[in-house]
Amino acid sequence: MFETDVLIAGAGPAGLLLAAELALAGVRTTIVERLPQRPPYCRGFNLNSRALDLLARRGLADGLVAEGHRVPHAPVTGLPGPLLLDGAATDHPFSLGIPQTRVEEVLEARARELGVEILRGHDLRSFTQSADDVTTVVHNGQFGRTLRSRFLVGCDGGRSTVRKQAGIGFPGVDARWYALLGDVECDLPYGPSAGPDGRSLFVIPRPGYVRIVVREDAPPSDKDTPVTLERLQAQVDTVLGLHVELREPRWLSRFGDAARLASKYREGRVLLAGDAAHIHPPAGAIGVNVALDDSFNLGWKLAATVRGTAPEGLLDTYHAERHAAGERILANTRAQVAVEEAGAEPWADLLRRVAAHPAGNRALAEIITGLDACYEPGGHPWLGRLAPDVPLLVSGAETRLATLLHAGRPVLLDLTPSGSFAAWSAGVPVVAASSPSTSDIDAVLLRPDGHVAWVGTPGAGDAGLAEAVHRWVGNVPVPV
Ligand SMILES: Cc1cc2nc3c(=O)[nH]c(=O)nc-3n(C[C@H](O)[C@H](O)[C@H](O)COP(=O)(O)OP(=O)(O)OC[C@H]3O[C@@H](n4cnc5c(N)ncnc54)[C@H](O)[C@@H]3O)c2cc1C
Repeated sequence: MFETDVLIAGAGPAGLLLAAELALAGVRTTIVERLPQRPPYCRGFNLNSRALDLLARRGLADGLVAEGHRVPHAPVTGLPGPLLLDGAATDHPFSLGIPQTRVEEVLEARARELGVEILRGHDLRSFTQSADDVTTVVHNGQFGRTLRSRFLVGCDGGRSTVRKQAGIGFPGVDARWYALLGDVECDLPYGPSAGPDGRSLFVIPRPGYVRIVVREDAPPSDKDTPVTLERLQAQVDTVLGLHVELREPRWLSRFGDAARLASKYREGRVLLAGDAAHIHPPAGAIGVNVALDDSFNLGWKLAATVRGTAPEGLLDTYHAERHAAGERILANTRAQVAVEEAGAEPWADLLRRVAAHPAGNRALAEIITGLDACYEPGGHPWLGRLAPDVPLLVSGAETRLATLLHAGRPVLLDLTPSGSFAAWSAGVPVVAASSPSTSDIDAVLLRPDGHVAWVGTPGAGDAGLAEAVHRWVGNVPVPV
């Protein structure tokens, strides 16, 4: 007896989106979350273009966009000007200001609506895995219990118990510096300032308070020592060279520039997603966004594996695709910090000049937000990339490409006037459509995450389509 098909540790952005994706595909899913309720403070405050594009493939972006605040550029560290998103490869050419806690609420509501069980106040303590299952011990503060599942996914943050217990390495570099964060009230003007010792102080406006970020003058002897208001006050006073009173602390914390990447995203029946798989310097404000990206990639692959329809090796493409993405994220965020620290060094000027050039600026925006994600480069420009949300006419009704993906299934989009690909419907859902934006395409095989697995160009027929279907959809009937 399995208590659940997939057990997820952690109800942050990664765990909640993954759970919703699995439940959408009919997979019984349970989340165990250590905290009895969501904390009152908020870490992140943005969704980037890539995350919005992905959420739109499930109909989840519009509501958030209506609530949030649009900014036409991507956050970046170390470069003087903004990274503009106008003309970037996205359906959402803006960053959305919205609290991480609000995104989590929306994802939690969706997960619950789809039948996910969320056990708050339950700490994952240990697990063992066999060839067939994972047996996990969770504790609710009073009692321990075991849960047997087919798979376990660690979405349990940077200090992931799941990662450690699975014996998965976390190579990388330790933090060289730490910054204090304080959500407080005070009379400081918004914006950055620099102290006489070169240390920076940021005062970021938040609703009803400010977020202060200041580098510590020396690494703490123990980074887990709780941050006090006195400590933050002393660091702020030193940087400013005067005393400005900090009041009403809502949240005091510390973060550093450590960068680490799990050596594997899968060990047997145990997988990792989000911060559990990678930590990096806080440049570009991408943590939530990358966590969502991981889960969106993993959800449909794990669901197909649990249901027994997955082609051989499908689940391992999660590591192949997202570990490589993790490597790029560490490189990008570390590069941003290095440029910031380089100051007037001539080598850093090169990147600044690239950022000042319109095409270079757009390329950097696409790299830092992950919009450049291409899992299988080569051939047609759409191949391996997230298919753009082009307008479509289906059975006389106007729709869009992203809408076809709301059910979380693969789609073979047939754009030929005669419906030449109809016979493939025995193996994969076929949607016959026309579009003004796709004259060089006869048909496209879309993975459930919207990435393009195959493109049929005029005159090429269905060459290569059977292989793509067998690779991404499964061993299903294909026309002979
Ligand atoms: C100060 C700060 C500002 C940030 N700003 C931004 C920003 O502007 N934009 C952005 O995109 N990102 C930002 N981030 C990063 C972002 O918050 C994280 O990258 C993101 O929350 C990662 O999501 P996750 O689901 O992987 O992990 P988490 O959100 O950390 O969720 C992990 C969950 O697992 C639970 N858990 C841990 N251990 C166990 C266990 N043993 N059993 C059960 N549950 C467990 C935890 O309680 C937690 O709820 C910021 C981070 C910080 C610290």
